[in-house]
Amino acid sequence: MSDRHILARRALLTGAAGLAAAAAIPLSATAASAKPNKPKEPKKPRIYSCEEWGARQPVDPPTILQNRPNKIVVHHTAYPNTLDFSLDYAFQNSRDIQDLHMDNNGWNDSGQHFTNSRGGFLTEGRRGSLDALLGGTTMVQSAHTVGQNTQSIGIENDGSYHLGELPTHKQWKSLIGFCAYICWQYEIAPTEIYGHQDFNATLCPGGIQDRLPWLREQVAKKLHIAI
Ligand SMILES: [Zn+2]
Repeated sequence: MSDRHILARRALLTGAAGLAAAAAIPLSATAASAKPNKPKEPKKPRIYSCEEWGARQPVDPPTILQNRPNKIVVHHTAYPNTLDFSLDYAFQNSRDIQDLHMDNNGWNDSGQHFTNSRGGFLTEGRRGSLDALLGGTTMVQSAHTVGQNTQSIGIENDGSYHLGELPTHKQWKSLIGFCAYICWQYEIAPTEIYGHQDFNATLCPGGIQDRLPWLREQVAKKLHIAI
C-alpha cells in the first residue's frame, strides 16, 4: 500500500469517527479532536475462504457492488452454544448455515459476509466477500439485515446470546481483530459498528448488543485511534 493511500485512509477513518461520535453515538467526540489521531494498520486475520470450507456454489453469481460498505452489523446465529471449538466444527457450521439459507430461506447463498466461530475461526460467508474485503473498494450484496444489505458487512457469531450467555474469549478476541481489519480495509469508523436489532425487530445479537460500546472501543484501540 502506498504512503499516499495510507494517508487518505487515515483522513477518512478519523474524519468519519469524529462525525459519527458528534452525531449520535455517546462516545467521546472531544478526544478525537484533542489528540493526533493516526490509525495504524491492524494485523490481518486468517479468514478461511469458501473453497477451504467446502461451500456450495451460489445459485447465481454474487452481485458485486462498486461501493464500500459504511458500517458493520454484528449477528449471532442463535444455534446451540457448542463446546467444540475446532476448525472442523467452524467449517461444518459454515456449511450448515449455507444449507439453511439456501434450502430453507431460498436465498442465493449464505446471507452473511463472514462467520466467527466459538473457537474464534473466521470463515467467508457469501462467496466473493473475501476477495472484496481484500480489495477494499467493493462489496458483495448480502442478505443479513433488511435495509442494510448494500451498505454493511454482516458478521455471524456462532451461538445463542439472548439467553444470558456470552461469546467465548476466543470468539470475542477474534471479533475485535476482525472488525479492526474491516474498518481499516473499508475506511469505516469504529463507531459504525452496530447490532442487528439496531435495524430490524429481532433479539439478535442478544447480549452482544450491550457490549457494542466496548467492541467499538477495543476496535479503535487496535487501530490506535481515539473515538
Ligand atoms: Zn441477526
